[in-house]
Amino acid sequence: MSSKSSANVSGSKRIAVIPGDGIGTEVTREAVKVLKAVTSGSRTKLDFTEFDWGAERYLRDGTTLPPDAAPMLRRDFDAVLFGAVGDPRVPSNIHAADILLGLRAKLDLYVNLRPVELIDAALTPLRDRGTSDINFVVLRENTEGLYVGMGGQFQRGTPHEVAVQEDINTRKGVERIIRYAFEYAREHQLGRVCMSDKSNALTYGHELWLRVFSQVKDEYPGIESRHLYIDTLVMEVVRDPGQFRVIVTCNLFGDILSDLGAQLAGGLGLAPSGNIHPGRVSLFEPVHGSAPTIAGKNLANPCGAVLASAMMLDHLDLRPQAEALRKAIRAAVHEKHTTVDLGGTLGTREAGDWLAEYVTKNPR
Ligand code: ATP
Repeated sequence: MSSKSSANVSGSKRIAVIPGDGIGTEVTREAVKVLKAVTSGSRTKLDFTEFDWGAERYLRDGTTLPPDAAPMLRRDFDAVLFGAVGDPRVPSNIHAADILLGLRAKLDLYVNLRPVELIDAALTPLRDRGTSDINFVVLRENTEGLYVGMGGQFQRGTPHEVAVQEDINTRKGVERIIRYAFEYAREHQLGRVCMSDKSNALTYGHELWLRVFSQVKDEYPGIESRHLYIDTLVMEVVRDPGQFRVIVTCNLFGDILSDLGAQLAGGLGLAPSGNIHPGRVSLFEPVHGSAPTIAGKNLANPCGAVLASAMMLDHLDLRPQAEALRKAIRAAVHEKHTTVDLGGTLGTREAGDWLAEYVTKNPR
């Protein structure tokens, strides 16, 4: 399922870097530093090109996502490394929606892959849970559902106002994410897939999910399949997270569930995500946002961005280098060479320096 890039012939992979706003710029700088270090001795080089799409540019000249951005990224790049967007100077956050939701839609990045892996038992708020209990992935449908922006408001601001937000579920969209979940479970030998919806209440949209799931699962007899309503699923994830390996769900539930997962595994500072279209240019980012309250203070944890970079390397078939990044993060967490949110004393830059030095000394 990883991309087979045409850039392979030149021995380099072209990475578009979009640092964005707030701590997005700080953690992306560290991720690029660590990526350069881990590939410095490799045959395949990474070739970075930075784009200034974000609040600063929007306030300067009104640009959010340039009209040719998506075709240009598809044509000229192998992957996108993204920081975060969102800035209090743009209260509507119109630029953030245009850039991130725009890229997800225009590049048709239909898989949002969010690994939830506890790397140190001390980091989970769940009592008596260890690393083997919290290790699953959330696959969130990333292009449809309630996030397509269909709807409207009538008699806005009056006592009679009506607001409608449409939930879009297409056969194609539902089937491809469910199929991806089974393919992912097969490729990574994870053995089981749980699909979660609310088909008992959402009897049109989510009944489609249930029907498609029961058809697709029959094509994967070697993989255990299970269906849970979302309310039951969240209870079970907290009660006994070890029962899950791959969870696939719609855009809204996936959004909520992956933040729950992030907390179970040590908080937003450690959580990575991939916005993927198999075989095509895909986008990798930390789960956290631009966190304006801590921006510019050298406080942000760069681990989420570095783990997102590891996912990007997996996607580019640079698996030993991806594993080297994960090993560095595990070492940093165990030895407390981290930012304060994980109990360490380092700043963003110093945490990045430590990781870069570690992968230089331990490139595999
Ligand atoms: P968004 O609306 O995009 O989710 P936000 O600023 O509301 O953005 P986050 O950016 O996700 O939310 O951050 C919420 C809080 O979590 C931050 O204020 C900060 O305290 C903490 N946080 C998030 N990311 C990090 C990080 N990388 N390192 C340390 N703390 C973080």
